[in-house]
Amino acid sequence: MLITRRLEFDAGHRIPHHASQCRHLHGHRYALEVTLSGDIITREGAPEQGMVMDFAEVRAIAWRHLVQAWDHAFFVYEKDTALVAFLNSLPGHKTVVLGAPPTAENLALEAFRILDAAYRDVYGNHLRLERVRLYETPSCWAEAVRGQF
Ligand SMILES: [Zn+2]
Repeated sequence: MLITRRLEFDAGHRIPHHASQCRHLHGHRYALEVTLSGDIITREGAPEQGMVMDFAEVRAIAWRHLVQAWDHAFFVYEKDTALVAFLNSLPGHKTVVLGAPPTAENLALEAFRILDAAYRDVYGNHLRLERVRLYETPSCWAEAVRGQF
């Protein structure tokens, strides 16, 4: 069984060598869809009976491990050195430095890596992360699917 929870957050980025608009500093309303697989919990009387994982818990884990750090942050490529230096000069600025340009594809990959370690099989129902879909706009997204990157 697959279940999916969607979370939204705001963040800025710049793709330094982009041919068009994304080389300028700007932001997006990103959306993150987290898809988990697992068996439906059948233990009589358990709070999670009938579920793979409580959607509130799916959200809480994504928030605690990822979205809290990414919401209202600025994504910057580590080799975009002038911008890294500028952002570091702003006291207390929420900056996320990435080893690759902050495209939807790379953000989806990074989110998968972080969240894969965060979702554990706590109920013994083979719970695991299967897919992260990262929307840069409502019509553009990238998916990191287990075993396909
Ligand atoms: Zn953009």
